[in-house]
This record gives sequence, C-alpha cells and structure tokens, in this order.
Amino acid sequence: MIRFKTEEELLLMRDAGKVVSDVLDALRDVVRPGVSTAELERVAEKHITSSGGKAAFKGYRPSYAERPFPGAICASVNREVVHGIPSDGRVLEEGDIVSVDVGVFLKGYYGDAACTYPVGNICPNRRKLLDVTEKCLELAIATSMKGNTIGDIGHAVESHVLANGFGVVRDYTGHGVGKKLHEAPQVPNFGKRGKGVTLQRGMTLALEPMVMTGKEDVMLGSDGWVVITADGSDAAHFERTIVITDGGPEILTPWVSR
Ligand code: MG
Repeated sequence: MIRFKTEEELLLMRDAGKVVSDVLDALRDVVRPGVSTAELERVAEKHITSSGGKAAFKGYRPSYAERPFPGAICASVNREVVHGIPSDGRVLEEGDIVSVDVGVFLKGYYGDAACTYPVGNICPNRRKLLDVTEKCLELAIATSMKGNTIGDIGHAVESHVLANGFGVVRDYTGHGVGKKLHEAPQVPNFGKRGKGVTLQRGMTLALEPMVMTGKEDVMLGSDGWVVITADGSDAAHFERTIVITDGGPEILTPWVSR
C-alpha cells in the first residue's frame, strides 16, 4: 500500500533528510586514499547520533537476508554495487570509487540517499560511470512529475544508461520511503513509458539508479550482504529521497553533489 504523506509528515521527513544530506556532504572531505570504509562509518554514525537520529541500516534485516546488516552505512567499492559492509580492512586506494549509502531514522521517519565518491584521481571510464549514474538520478527526479508513472522514471534511467553503453541493475530497485525504510511502490531503474503506478502528490520515493560498466548480472558476495557485479566491472549508485508535489519533485535529501 502506498502511503501518501501529509504536510506535517513532510516536515519530519525534511529533518531526517537533512541529517542524511549533512553526512554525505561531510564524507566528501573524508574520502581519500588510505582511509578505511570503517572510518567512513565512524564519521557517519557519530554525526547521525549527535543529530538525535539512528542509523537506519544497522540491524536491518529484510526477509531475504540471512543476518541483520551490521553496518551503520553501506560502503561499496569498485565492483561492489550496494550493501557493502564497512570494514577496517577495506582501505581506499587512489583511483577507487566508493558508493556510500546513508539511511537515517529520526522522529519516526526515514531519509535515504547515496553518493559514489572518487578516491583521488580516477580513470576516464570510472569518471564517465559516475557522470552517467548521477545524470540518471537527475533524469529520474526530473521525470517525477505528478501524472507521470513509475514506468516513466525507469524508462528515463534505462535509456540514458543504455545510450552510454553501460548496464543497469535489475535485481534491486528504488522504493517508497517514510515511516518504513522500504514502502510501496518499488521504483525499478528500467521500464516502459506510461506503465506502472501513477505519481501523485504526497508520494515519497527513494530514487536510486545503480549502474555498471559491464553486463547486467549481479551476485551476492560471500558475506551474505554485498552485491557485486558478476563480470567484475565497476558499479556506481546515486540516490535521493524526494516527494511529489503539485509543482514538481522536491528533494528531501539536498546534499551537494561530489
Ligand atoms: Mg534506498
């Protein structure tokens, strides 16, 4: 069931989204060669906790997972697409890309967003991957107009990915968000124009293109959480929480891009 949000609820969702945004803005200055993904987690969790919020992913256990997610953020490097578990042993190197997904629970509501950061100087193909994936998120947001459909969003994302010779993740999708981290509807990064649920005022969505430079297959890593590209190609992930309004989409996680 899709839960439409009232103006009062949106005030609270803006607060949760602001904490998510502040964390992503802060991490931009922390990501550099020699820093571990556990260090990113410590910075993020400290910020979330001091803001009065809770790290939404910690202990999260969807039905498909064998164990709760142990991290406060997801940190996924290079071929890792999403759901990477932060680790002291995972030290970022010059030329890596790291996708950080931040979820915050504050005053009864969730905010959810992600950014893929370059670590130092990255190669042209990784630069292109980040550019294309971020552009996909912009297109998804621009398409999120009242009266359009979920299929319109997916179509916009998929078309841009394929036009650039990359692949789009099909096994994981964007989603409604609000009182729960994952609400209806699902928002796939592929679709047909005019198909699916019609967007209406008060719908709050986490739009999150996941794009890879290679083929579209992904698989689960040995820790039972991290999703990796099957062919070892690179992946990127950009995400924002938005609300559909009469005047167009409003971004509830307005972090400044990389
Ligand atoms: Mg999400």
